[in-house]
Amino acid sequence: MAVNAPSQEMPPLIKESGQREVFCGLTSIVWLHRRMPDAFFLVVGSRTCAHLIQSAAGVMIFAEPRFGTAILGERDLAGLADANEELDRLVAQLLARRPEIRTLFLVGSCPSEVIKLDLAKAAERLNVQHRGRVTVLNYSGSGIETTFTQGEDGALQALIPLMPAAPAEPNAAQQLLIGGTLADGVEDRLINLLGKLGIERVKTLPPRRSTELPSVGPGTKLLLAQPYLSGTARALIDRGAELIEAPYPLGALGSRAWMAAAAAAFGIAPEHVAAVLDPLVERSQRAIAPYKETLAGKRLFVLPDSQLEIPLARFLSSECGMELLEVGTPYLDRQLMASDLALLPPGTQLSEGQHVEQQLQRLEAQKPDLVLCGLGLANPLEAKGIATKWSIELVFSPIHGIDQAADLAELFARPLRRRSALSFA
Ligand code: SF4
Repeated sequence: MAVNAPSQEMPPLIKESGQREVFCGLTSIVWLHRRMPDAFFLVVGSRTCAHLIQSAAGVMIFAEPRFGTAILGERDLAGLADANEELDRLVAQLLARRPEIRTLFLVGSCPSEVIKLDLAKAAERLNVQHRGRVTVLNYSGSGIETTFTQGEDGALQALIPLMPAAPAEPNAAQQLLIGGTLADGVEDRLINLLGKLGIERVKTLPPRRSTELPSVGPGTKLLLAQPYLSGTARALIDRGAELIEAPYPLGALGSRAWMAAAAAAFGIAPEHVAAVLDPLVERSQRAIAPYKETLAGKRLFVLPDSQLEIPLARFLSSECGMELLEVGTPYLDRQLMASDLALLPPGTQLSEGQHVEQQLQRLEAQKPDLVLCGLGLANPLEAKGIATKWSIELVFSPIHGIDQAADLAELFARPLRRRSALSFA
């Protein structure tokens, strides 16, 4: 993987603040509740919040969904009713009906924040009421100044104080902690490969059961699988974990570099890494080749939405040959993005934050072949004849790892192929 000199060859970052077109952090409940089936996410919000997560999750297909909304009515919002009493009553009913719930997340929303409902205090109170039965935690999924992936960052930060301390003895075995939700099958394959490299003690945050939290301490090496976990990473570092700098595991080369960075942190010889991973990379590159034919030379404009933008742009330029016109991200965490930033082509224009109108003006002036954007902007752009890819689809798809790289390329090739089929029709 060629490494380009970072920031000094980049044009100045465009910083924007203005009208935003993003989902709020409640959206991440959709993947978190699947990940931890013994947890329940209780949104304390309005009917709008309830509608958002129901439509983000699709039609409710679960007889007993693992999320719900405690709806704040007009009387609560006007301060005429005691929302705390109502919340306690609802939680007691829920726990009586659902004995399998082990962890209850109270998820704050814009309405609960507007009326200054203190969910940290509510969680404390409920923990006393239901001690030994359930652990009650809280975090904010509010849409004020957040992006939808930050919901996961908030949920994981709520779990960190409950993680046991790892043994502090100097000879204690080191463990690798993978940070961020991955599809179970993808995670199994990555852990299996890390085992083949020689890393045996691998834990994940979030775990698959909310009560089986991994330990953390000075012997923990943290490898982030998702780039939107700034707060989680800092909290784990504060608990003694050491962050492994690596590109995110998107694409064949990106995933190889991710695993190689972990192997280096565990003192594993690069020759062994090459022997295990290179045949897989070669197979993956052969699978990517047909999509690369469609993608190479095409001009990509990336609007900020999920915080996956920079690693995706790195994959699409370095492994698929796309030309990057602008890469927007809601927030730029230079520490967590350092390895991916260093792999972007020199001269890549980055932007941070959102001002929809200004971004659309730049986009239209540059006439991209493909735009990666949020759901709300896709239809208007398609109507103008510009092919789009929804960034939220990538958050819900199993795109991480060497084996998934061709599927990831295909997700971007598909809208271009569809558009060219339409133009010949
Ligand atoms: S938390 Fe805020 S942005 Fe999200 S659905 Fe509720 S009101 Fe809307």
